[in-house]
Amino acid sequence: MEQKCQDCDATMKILDDVVVGEIISCPDCGNEFEVSKIDSNSVTLSPAESVGEDWGE
Ligand SMILES: [Zn+2]
Repeated sequence: MEQKCQDCDATMKILDDVVVGEIISCPDCGNEFEVSKIDSNSVTLSPAESVGEDWGE
């Protein structure tokens, strides 16, 4: 399946076995998006801005 980049509108390929939380990076602008929701044939992406946050404690 495919998703439009929310930033530059380029088409990003999404693998069929994508999982929630996976990071997709745009081949055009390099922005990264996190998969927040998966429906039967579409995915919802949210900007991955959590770089540097520490969830491991
Ligand atoms: Zn982009």
